[in-house]
Amino acid sequence: MDLKSLTIKKVKEGLTKKEFSVLDLVRGYKKAIDERNHTVHAFLEVFDDIEEKAKNVQKLVDEGNDLPLAGVSVALKDNILVKGHVASAGSHILEHFVSPYDSTAVSKLQSAGAIILGRTNMDEFAMGSSTENSAFGVTRNPHDTGRVPGGSSGGSAAAVAMDATLLALGSDTGGSVRQPASFCGCVGLKPTYGSISRHGLIALGSSLDIIGPITRTVSDAEIVFDTLKGQDAFDSTSYYPSEKKEVKDKLRIGVPRQMVYVPGLDDRIAKNFEESIFKLQNLGHEIIDIELPNAPYALSVYYIIMPAEASSNLARFDGVKYGFHRNGQNLIEDYFLTRGAGFGKETRRRIILGTYVLSSGYYDAYYSKANAMRDLIRNDYNKVFETVDVVLTPTAPTPAFKIGEKIEDPLSMYLADIFTVPANISGNPAISIPSGTVLEGEGSLPVGIQFVANHYREDVLFSIGKSFLQEI
Ligand code: GLN
Repeated sequence: MDLKSLTIKKVKEGLTKKEFSVLDLVRGYKKAIDERNHTVHAFLEVFDDIEEKAKNVQKLVDEGNDLPLAGVSVALKDNILVKGHVASAGSHILEHFVSPYDSTAVSKLQSAGAIILGRTNMDEFAMGSSTENSAFGVTRNPHDTGRVPGGSSGGSAAAVAMDATLLALGSDTGGSVRQPASFCGCVGLKPTYGSISRHGLIALGSSLDIIGPITRTVSDAEIVFDTLKGQDAFDSTSYYPSEKKEVKDKLRIGVPRQMVYVPGLDDRIAKNFEESIFKLQNLGHEIIDIELPNAPYALSVYYIIMPAEASSNLARFDGVKYGFHRNGQNLIEDYFLTRGAGFGKETRRRIILGTYVLSSGYYDAYYSKANAMRDLIRNDYNKVFETVDVVLTPTAPTPAFKIGEKIEDPLSMYLADIFTVPANISGNPAISIPSGTVLEGEGSLPVGIQFVANHYREDVLFSIGKSFLQEI
């Protein structure tokens, strides 16, 4: 059993032919975690029930049940709830919070036979691009442990990259699945807003958040997405159309060069991007120059809408309803002390920013304008999808940066999401696909390209992704 080359399909075949058991798989991954996690720190916790769960799934397989994800291991970002386990969202304020219920994503995974290995490190409340904002220490990039794995789902991407799980789930509010996937050489899917239930996902920006898979292959991302998608009574924003559409073999790829060639774009990324375009052309796809005139404003819009929603979502952590509590002289002091000590620096920064843009004097100047701009950005995408099937950009403007390089400079950290944020603002699905490596010192670092498609056209993303990676 070679964990490095396993796919969901191979797991299924291996179990059917009895080449290995579910328990062998779980023990194999546990061994990989034990070998590398002390350096990489991808996992915050490995659950103690994994062998028991493996035996249960094996029993179901032996009884002849056809489970689409039987024996498939999953690493979960620490903001996705599993009943009876801690979900801390990378924050001291939820350090000892034990979930009383399963998120819909977890219920679906478990009914499909998947084994949840444990929870992975993340930037506190998914705010960040490097996983350095975790209250529980940094995660290191398995390709170069002096560098960040990206974020905020850095632990999930690192877990896949160090071959310690077949797949991981992250959450993507502004790029947190795609950007770490590109830094770690994985596939990362941000589905259409609403296509996977947010029930049991600890909220950051509710109109932007979505759960997404991080995998080694596009085919695996597709299988996981098909398992997780669909309407859910617990999330009124969830929906997925049932009709299937046709996907052509040769696709029209729109390239918004004015959006890509911005200050701060690493030369090596630019070169990799042009090489990727060339490769796509050679594969028979058509390259079309397009413009998304309002997309350059997406990052500014994001840093108004996301903090506004975050400040409101995080109001519930007041030291009364959840575990962490600091005593003051009166209730208001309890709030101040609890939130001051429980939240990290970036979280407090965003709560203040969000409260500011929602305050009565500034609501119209910032929040309303950002919302109006959001419509324009969405219209830009709707318009280009009349003439192209996908929009291509790099996933991130740089490869993985050094630990500590950007942590004191929030604005430069925010720029890491310049290419990923527009799809959250517009709600479109997007995927990061590994596009090779770039040289860095003596070694090399993985990088990725991003495809964005029309709403609910994940099928188009899988098709172009498989074509690019030449997956059969
Ligand atoms: N890095 C972005 C931020 O800091 C995106 C976060 C996310 O997608 N969860 O907000």
